[in-house]
Amino acid sequence: MSKLIAIDNGHGLNTAGKRTPLFPGGSFMHEWEFNHAVAKYLETELQRCGFETLMLSDTEEDIPLQKRTDICNKASADFCVSIHYNAVTGTWQTIATGTETYSYPGNVADAKYASIIHPYVVQATGLKDRGCRQANFHMVREPKCPAILVEFGFMDNRTDADLALQDSFRKRCAVGLAKGICAVFGVEYVKGVDETVTEIKRYKNISEMPEFYQGYIKRWVDAGYIKGNTDGTLDFTEDMIRMLIIAERMQKKSIEN
Ligand SMILES: [Zn+2]
Repeated sequence: MSKLIAIDNGHGLNTAGKRTPLFPGGSFMHEWEFNHAVAKYLETELQRCGFETLMLSDTEEDIPLQKRTDICNKASADFCVSIHYNAVTGTWQTIATGTETYSYPGNVADAKYASIIHPYVVQATGLKDRGCRQANFHMVREPKCPAILVEFGFMDNRTDADLALQDSFRKRCAVGLAKGICAVFGVEYVKGVDETVTEIKRYKNISEMPEFYQGYIKRWVDAGYIKGNTDGTLDFTEDMIRMLIIAERMQKKSIEN
């Protein structure tokens, strides 16, 4: 008989404080946008792998935590996972980055599930491994079944936040989580047909680019080497930017020699 997995996408769209600080362009991301996208991808992943799924908060509303775990317990779910993106202060910070998985203090089943799933999640994010941790969170305390809460990254760390904005990253997080849940239940992970196709992101202008590249591109634009399209957009892929950086290094090297 297939297992029932309860999926919680923590918070509502407009829950106070649950958002990134402002990006240079003045925009921000609600934590819900990441959590909900990953939850929906996870639902698809798990169903393909033969699980039954139960969404605990598939809405923009902030469903009360007690209601979420009541739904989970009433349906006798076999496992409950809560999806989050962490924050330290709510202003851009560089002290904390990375991925952590929580279980309820002293709950042996929770800890075992966390220890099996966490490495898959860390591999998926590619961020710093902050380890398996324990905390008295409602979403790991109240479910009658084993439960974990994953903080995939930090909303107020620019590296982590830039990733959280990307649909390809959100999908990768869901795939990692699905693979971990498959491992826990001894189920073979079934790959989706579209998972071999990597989405190519195009950056329309400098402010959209990962911060690391912005200085390079700005310098070349200011020097007149890059003119962009007639509408003023650049429309660069990451590969194009990397090739330009390599070309500059090669040119510097040839001058030195
Ligand atoms: Zn959260």
